[in-house]
Amino acid sequence: MDDTSPILIWLRRDLRLSDHPALHAACATGRPVIPAFVFDAQYDGLAAAPKFRMGLGLEHHGASLAEAGSRLILRRNQSALSALQDLIEETGAGAVYWTRQYDPEAVSRDSEVKAALKEQGLEVKSFGGHLMFEPWTVETKTGGYYKVYTPFWRNVKNRDVEEPLKAPSEIKAPKSWPASDDLADWEMDAAMMRGADVVRPFVQLGEKAAQSRLGAFLANKVADYNTNRDLPGVDGTSNLSENLALGEISPHQCWHAGQRALHEGKAGAETFLKELVWREFAYHLMHHTPRILERNWREEWEGFNWNEDERRAEVKAWKQGRTGIPFVDAAMRELYVTGRMHNRGRMIVASYLTKHLLCHWRIGQKWFEDCLIDWDPASNAMGWQWSAGSGPDATPYFRVFNPVTQLDKFDKNRDYAGRWIAEGHSTPHKDALAFFDAIPRQWNMKADDAYPDPVVDVSDGRKRALDAYANKSF
Ligand code: FAD
Repeated sequence: MDDTSPILIWLRRDLRLSDHPALHAACATGRPVIPAFVFDAQYDGLAAAPKFRMGLGLEHHGASLAEAGSRLILRRNQSALSALQDLIEETGAGAVYWTRQYDPEAVSRDSEVKAALKEQGLEVKSFGGHLMFEPWTVETKTGGYYKVYTPFWRNVKNRDVEEPLKAPSEIKAPKSWPASDDLADWEMDAAMMRGADVVRPFVQLGEKAAQSRLGAFLANKVADYNTNRDLPGVDGTSNLSENLALGEISPHQCWHAGQRALHEGKAGAETFLKELVWREFAYHLMHHTPRILERNWREEWEGFNWNEDERRAEVKAWKQGRTGIPFVDAAMRELYVTGRMHNRGRMIVASYLTKHLLCHWRIGQKWFEDCLIDWDPASNAMGWQWSAGSGPDATPYFRVFNPVTQLDKFDKNRDYAGRWIAEGHSTPHKDALAFFDAIPRQWNMKADDAYPDPVVDVSDGRKRALDAYANKSF
């Protein structure tokens, strides 16, 4: 293959121009570069909100590439390999570069693609960028992987994290561009139905928005982050998770900016760095124990008698934000309207589903996957198993969050509950009303309904959970 042939950049969850090692390396060769995205079986299989968010991200990134004098070539094919082979044939590309992904499905797809293309004589290179610390490079003293967060943090906190790369000054175009699908034909928002228009205004799209979010957070919010990050009624966190999930910003960029804030003495900066490392820890766990995605990480939970029937009235009430427990309902409605949920809300609703309602964490994991625009396989699985008590470094199974006292503690003035629950208010908040525009009509809920009674009394639910645990030998 002559070394002036184009290089294909196979884009996935790395929709940015800056700090993109694969793109940077491709541009540095001086060869033409063809950025391409393949809507393959894995992306086709995404749940409603992540697919919708990915569609928006692709549209935006296509425009950014066009501004930079390049293009985003879109191809739909259940097999990524076939789509790449077609592109190679059509363009005469001699190399394919991509950013590594870590979930087992992507790993096995990428290994097959790598082997097949190498066999064809192509140059194939995978790059880092999605994580700061490759999961296999962080080891305990005895050479194992970490099961507990704090020692993981101690291991990595003083490591050198690569300085972010600048966006390439030029992305050389090929002599002629291959044909591209039209993104609109993929209908990536279809499963959102009428919710798409409701969620859309809450989305912050793309690299520039992510960078300004990071800047604004570190300038205005990080000083109070230690306190405010726990208050769901306060916009006190970075809100960067949707951008990190799609690679619209890199963790390295967040880390270095966070380090600068730390050196400037900003309180809260270290906590922010620690949160970024929770994300890394989730990937570390997924890499070393991929079963965390599907099965109880602690095997002793395998025999536990979780309720797994999604048709139960209590599960429906949980999904529909009408459990009669304001903290739970506010958070579930926030999820439905914004595609995101405050971290404390996530902990509360997960504890309520798995403990008060004794439902399998997989039900919640799947619902979050349907609804979250920041859905991330590793963080979602870790978060659910942490909450249920079945995961590594999890909250003790006998610790049952009380959603009533939690609301008193973290939402004293009811800013959060008031923003999301319309029933019983003469002038409901506009976001509380938006929920009724987003939900399917067959849920049959109206803003002027009476607020429901609890599906399970908080103390009865707690007792029921503790009794169930007592009958189980852990
Ligand atoms: P900030 O507080 O500003 O934190 C900065 C970044 O650190 C976040 O953007 C995120 O990338 C990372 N981070 C923060 N907390 C955590 C955490 N507990 N675990 C892993 N990374 C973290 N996060 C997702 O990104 N996607 C998910 O699908 C997801 N599912 C979750 C499910 C449950 C049941 C729970 C309890 C937590 C889940 N989280 C998930 C983690 C956390 O709730 C979100 O990352 C956080 O709320 C995002 O808000 P932020 O960007 O403002 O975070």
